[in-house]
Amino acid sequence: MSDAALFDRTQWPRPNVSIEDAANILRDDYGLTGTISELGSQQDRNFRVDTDNGRYVLKICRAEYAAVELEAQNSAMRLLAANASGFRVPMPVPALDGEEILSSTLADGVYRIRLLTFLDGEPLTRKKHLSEPVVAALGTLCATLARELQDFDHAGLERDLQWDLRRAGPVALHLLTAVADQDLKDEIAKAMVAAIRRIRPLADDLRVQAIHQDVTDDNVVSRPDIHGRWIPDGVIDFGDLLKGWLVADLAVTCASLLHHGDGDPFVILPAVRAYQAVMPLTEAELKALWPLIVARAGVLVASSAQQSAIDPDNAYVSDNAAHERTIFDVATSVPLALMELAIFDSVGLAPDQAQMPLGRLLPDIAPDSIRLADLGVLNPNFGNDNWSDPDIDWKLLARAAGATKTASTRYGECRLSYTRLHAAIAPATFALHVDVCLPASTAAVAPFAGILRRDGGHIVLASDTIGLHIDGLDCPFLDGAALEAGESLGQVGGGESAVGGLRLRLSRDSDLVPPLFVPPAQAAIWAALCPSPSALLGIDVDAPKPAAAALLQKRHNHFARPQKHYYATPPQIERGWQQHLFDVTGRSYLDMVNNVTMVGHGHPRISAAVADQWSMLNTNSRFHYAAVADFSERLAALAPDGLDTVFLVNSGSEANDLALRLAWAATGAKTMLCLLEAYHGWTVASDAISTSIADNPNALETRPDWVRPVAAPNTYRGPFRGSDTTDDYVATVTAALDRVDREGKKLAGFICESVYGNAGGIPLPDGYLQQVYQMVRARGGLCIADEVQVGYGRLGQHFWGFEQQNVVPDIITIAKGMGNGHPLGAVITSRAIADALEQQGYFFSSSGGSPVSCVVGMEVLDIVQDERLQDNARLVGDHLRARLEALQPIFPIVGAVHGIGLYLGLEFVRDHQTLEPAREETAAICDRLLQLGVIMQPTGDHLNVLKIKPPLCLTLESADFFADMLTRVLAEGW
Ligand code: PMP
Repeated sequence: MSDAALFDRTQWPRPNVSIEDAANILRDDYGLTGTISELGSQQDRNFRVDTDNGRYVLKICRAEYAAVELEAQNSAMRLLAANASGFRVPMPVPALDGEEILSSTLADGVYRIRLLTFLDGEPLTRKKHLSEPVVAALGTLCATLARELQDFDHAGLERDLQWDLRRAGPVALHLLTAVADQDLKDEIAKAMVAAIRRIRPLADDLRVQAIHQDVTDDNVVSRPDIHGRWIPDGVIDFGDLLKGWLVADLAVTCASLLHHGDGDPFVILPAVRAYQAVMPLTEAELKALWPLIVARAGVLVASSAQQSAIDPDNAYVSDNAAHERTIFDVATSVPLALMELAIFDSVGLAPDQAQMPLGRLLPDIAPDSIRLADLGVLNPNFGNDNWSDPDIDWKLLARAAGATKTASTRYGECRLSYTRLHAAIAPATFALHVDVCLPASTAAVAPFAGILRRDGGHIVLASDTIGLHIDGLDCPFLDGAALEAGESLGQVGGGESAVGGLRLRLSRDSDLVPPLFVPPAQAAIWAALCPSPSALLGIDVDAPKPAAAALLQKRHNHFARPQKHYYATPPQIERGWQQHLFDVTGRSYLDMVNNVTMVGHGHPRISAAVADQWSMLNTNSRFHYAAVADFSERLAALAPDGLDTVFLVNSGSEANDLALRLAWAATGAKTMLCLLEAYHGWTVASDAISTSIADNPNALETRPDWVRPVAAPNTYRGPFRGSDTTDDYVATVTAALDRVDREGKKLAGFICESVYGNAGGIPLPDGYLQQVYQMVRARGGLCIADEVQVGYGRLGQHFWGFEQQNVVPDIITIAKGMGNGHPLGAVITSRAIADALEQQGYFFSSSGGSPVSCVVGMEVLDIVQDERLQDNARLVGDHLRARLEALQPIFPIVGAVHGIGLYLGLEFVRDHQTLEPAREETAAICDRLLQLGVIMQPTGDHLNVLKIKPPLCLTLESADFFADMLTRVLAEGW
């Protein structure tokens, strides 16, 4: 192989062949006619041909490509077509004369021509985000292909190709001459040199075999699995097939993943893990992998720069240029050593790491005098958003130091102060350094023998195995000074002030300056490269490691299983503020689902009021105290005239249970009408009227006889559709009532949510409740409005959901938001109905209506009023609804936008005619939203509706962030 031949190849533009030429070839040589369209290629011409008998790809390349190379590709395809793993490959199609490779003279030269079968399916290129299973499937595909090709040999595999990563150095050097941007040129050169320096000593140990070398996002075709995920199951384009390094094949695949991971180089790891399971790589190969990825990225960028210089009209090249630049940027965004560790870790191998013999840095400071500042999410001194004060960490460090002036931040702490709201990507919160507060002039000594380097005030003491980075030290030595262990290094600075500080960082790679903070997802690997400085200080300065997985196991061990949790791998959420939640790594999430926390998380007024009341008194409502009287009066004042009597309980289930007992007591009857697809609670009675099959798959078969469900008036997907269906739905109620009459049963009442919350916030058809209430009352029944979710101002336009239907119920039940998460529920009714219960004994709830509960309830009402949260629900809700409606014409999966105010539902369907629910897609959308920092969950019987019911303090900015992230997920596919 000569470099000259190879460089010559890099100069070839695409064959000058038109669609008409392609049509002539197809007709004359293959006897085919059909619709022809051009497919992209860097150096060939490819045309897709759709004929009545099938689809094909016509491939035309320059005659300089030896026929034997094309024969090798055809043989490989034939070999692979018979593979047992089931992945798909194209097959060569002979021409009319029986030949698989034709030669033809066209406008500007001699070309070689082949026809291949076309593989159906989508490439992955345009999918900006690839989920872990898809990335893993790509790794499996790459490995399976390599395994099948292990024993394949052919004379046409010995090729001079610029993509052969064994030649990446000279190729890049040559291509760089075409890169006009000097900065980019320098960057590529630097990256290539560093990568090749790592590859060279491993080269002899890298296995060589036939490899496809182009199993990329662009060259695989995928089909949706049962979850609607596009899983790659076919490979096209054998144009780069050659005999080369086995691991280079995976490097090519991994490089193509780097523009699908939101900038995260760790996106490749599931592919590496999956590859290793099928085709285990050796240690040398694993070590070479990331440098080869960097080399591939460098060659890609340089090559597209060169190709666009010689073929400026090649849209395929210019379209890919942005992706390739991203690949290069991500590949060079982290140290090579870090990715080597990450790759080893991903396949379960621990790399050899030298011992780090470290002495003490500050011999005059007694280790136990160093206090540790807690800057983590769990620190109770954080509150009321004080973590967004830019000086908060210093203040807390100074407070911890106190009079002794000696304190340290913790290594490996995920600092709350580094959280970011509305962040699509988890911010770097994990501290890879410590800041130590010390008396000025404290002496520091070299903790190991090394050479001193300085960059202004930044000092590095480096040995073969360690680099210690120090800021804040007055150090008398010059760059290059050699120091013995224990030799004086200088004094802690601090000038005139009596307090100084050192910033300390360690690294196993002395050329690497550790970043101060890294993203938590990369923390374990960074920590292996840049370990804790505890030994320098003589005490353990490490923050406790977040252990969400162990905690989840503990939960599974002891917390009863019917109590489910959101998400398969949930983040450990330990803090909230307004409409935001924070996990223990300091990642923030926009909480779009928490209708219980109506006035927002961590509200200082509620915690203050509760703390005051708890320290004064908490007892039960048989005692006489102000709060229970005041709160009952306020609730009665909120209800329509005549509903002036209040019961206080602890939950919505209890409220509904009690409402049923009231109806039974007041009417002397038992039979209750309720709606299908409804949820009213978990107690025996409230569960009996809960018909939602999402909550209980057997709900419809197991209702007791006194429960009579009627058709849910779902105007979108119910039996009658559209806004003019009131009479049809009323007729279903009439039928149910007639049956009750025929059976000679008396009616106790009717219960429903006044806006159909459980199905996604669908308003009932106009006039529905007026007619139903009238029929129920005509039979002596009572009408119960379950306002647990939709009442209390959430709808914006109305305080109560039933106002939207212009009715007044006999009994109102409320809970959830009224306590902002504190257990609080209430039933509001008339004096006469309430009194009816007394025939069955007294009503007593030990903590229902306790002083603390009443204080919480009143504080919530005050906050709703003072912060104008009902108005906010209308304003922000209208804005959000408009943003959601704008998605409808763009994304076919959006079937409907339901709801009012800040009770919205976005329903996903696979087909607008059949309304087939997009259940799996909805789950995938929610999972992806979590990654982007949004908490969202599905609702409805088919779990295909996003339940959008955030705290009422949601801002326009937050609503926009949600809509933006949702748009992004829908655009990405899943
Ligand atoms: N009614 C409705 C409409 C509800 O949505 C719920 C809870 N999801 C309840 C009643 C029961 O409330 P709780 O969970 O407070 O018992």
